Amino acid sequence: MTRPVCLISGGSAGIGAACAVLAAKKGYDILLNYRSDAHSAQAIKDQAEANGARVVCVQGDVSLPEDVTRIYEVLDAEFGALHALVNNAGIVAPKAKLVDIDHARLVKMFAVNVVGSMMMAKEAALRLGAGGSIINISSAAARIGSGNQYVDYAASKGAIDTFTKGLSDELAPKGVRVMAVRPGLIETDIHAKGGEPGRAQRLAHMVPMERTGSALEIANAVLWLMSDEASYITGSTLDVTGGR
Ligand code: NAP
Repeated sequence: MTRPVCLISGGSAGIGAACAVLAAKKGYDILLNYRSDAHSAQAIKDQAEANGARVVCVQGDVSLPEDVTRIYEVLDAEFGALHALVNNAGIVAPKAKLVDIDHARLVKMFAVNVVGSMMMAKEAALRLGAGGSIINISSAAARIGSGNQYVDYAASKGAIDTFTKGLSDELAPKGVRVMAVRPGLIETDIHAKGGEPGRAQRLAHMVPMERTGSALEIANAVLWLMSDEASYITGSTLDVTGGR
């Protein structure tokens, strides 16, 4: 029997990697996108293949239109079909107030987190049929605003929430569902990449459940939203934040 195909952007680390391994366990074949870390992408591919999936890795920066085109050319050539997009690739930048954030940082933040996600979703929308789904990875920052930390990142995720609702309306008549997950404080390397390796642990006391979350806890929500068990859900944004 043919396995459904899932494209995961930013699948070489953190939440995207957890989604890849869980998607393999749930019966998907996977196109695994990464930007720079081919070694980690290969390690996740190995884990997913050990769980029964066929996995193809594809390098590509989602903020570059030519890379998005190439990612989907590989999808078409290798799999010839798409059933789900986990629109996960995203970046943060070091903690700063708006007055200290320059134009180049704003442009990069929105190029990756917003324009990149929208271009990836556009190409998915051209290929998905009834039963297909797009899961955008937002952030609790979209609700909180992240003043004094990174309002640029928070605003980019606010855009993802709005985009999720709008695109869900466009694709619902085709039987394609579009949803978002808002992770809270999740233990991944993104905090170190933003210059604050201990950030999640440091802020854990602000979470009603008094702990950080794991990438697997986000992947569980993503894979559930993709599944037929969520067949009457679209346009929704699910907080996976321990109550924060
Ligand atoms: P992560 O561990 O830093 O992983 C990010 C992944 O995205 C990596 O595979 C990275 O690839 C890839 N990536 C980055 N920029 C890319 C680009 N321009 N094109 C393609 N791939 C790119 O981050 P994470 O914590 O798993 O975050 C995943 C998503 O969850 C992001 O959208 C993030 O905003 C969101 N989120 C995370 C948290 C959290 O606490 N961790 C909370 C809320 C929301 P390379 O390593 O190969 O460059």
